[in-house]
Amino acid sequence: MFLADCHTHSLCSPDSEIPMVAMGQKAYEYGLTSLTLTDHCDLLSLEGQPTLTYDWEPVRKERKSLLDAFGARLDLPFGIELGMGFLYPDQTRVILSEPGLDFVIGSSHNLSLEAGGRDFFCLDYTTLADCYAALDNYFQSMLALAAAPEFYDVVGHIIYPLRYMKGNYPQPPSVDRYRDEIFEICRLAAESGKGIEINTWKGQTLGEWIPVLKLFKEAGGEFITVGSDAHAPAPIGKGIREAYQIMQDCGFRYVANYHERKPDMHRL
Ligand SMILES: [Zn+2]
Ligand SMILES: [Zn+2]
Repeated sequence: MFLADCHTHSLCSPDSEIPMVAMGQKAYEYGLTSLTLTDHCDLLSLEGQPTLTYDWEPVRKERKSLLDAFGARLDLPFGIELGMGFLYPDQTRVILSEPGLDFVIGSSHNLSLEAGGRDFFCLDYTTLADCYAALDNYFQSMLALAAAPEFYDVVGHIIYPLRYMKGNYPQPPSVDRYRDEIFEICRLAAESGKGIEINTWKGQTLGEWIPVLKLFKEAGGEFITVGSDAHAPAPIGKGIREAYQIMQDCGFRYVANYHERKPDMHRL
């Protein structure tokens, strides 16, 4: 069975310490067909400072070790998770000119510049009002991201901030009220020939994707990748099979895997 984890991180991301080779080892043992490392390149820092250059050298070095060890046994597309590239188009074009890049996930990890630019990871979600203030800001950024298709192949984790909203709320925060924004994000991606991803967040986020997939289908979307967002070996592949089933239940027959910034389609 074709099984691809299209969203993973290594020590080339600030929030992981794992060599790419160790990620490859686990992917091979797990039985993946394909593993894409998509290390972070965020144009805003955790605290919202612009970081407008990217040092590819550590990635090239790690990638070489990975290819030497597993290149004959695993498909290993060369990916990146690009945070808010649309804010700085000229600098982003330079970053994405790296030769050999196969796959770009476009993500928004930070509040807008006007709102201070801090990472959603750092915010306070004590009350439901805190959650919805963050989500209001987030979906405006995601609309701007989706409208700049040059800077992504798939829109990353459309429901990203939800993963941090684990407070003691009367009812859990939901993206139901953002239906129109999510549909528009899906439509902008679909009409540009781009896709979305199902991010299983280490196998913990699955059912939440059903309404998003339905909107993507309604918007005429075709290309969907699936990734665990593993930052260590253990969660690699988690939730991928389940996500494939959810895709089928929502009427999709193929899953995408990217090479040279183009989707290869695999029958589910
Ligand atoms: Zn991310
Ligand atoms: Zn990620």
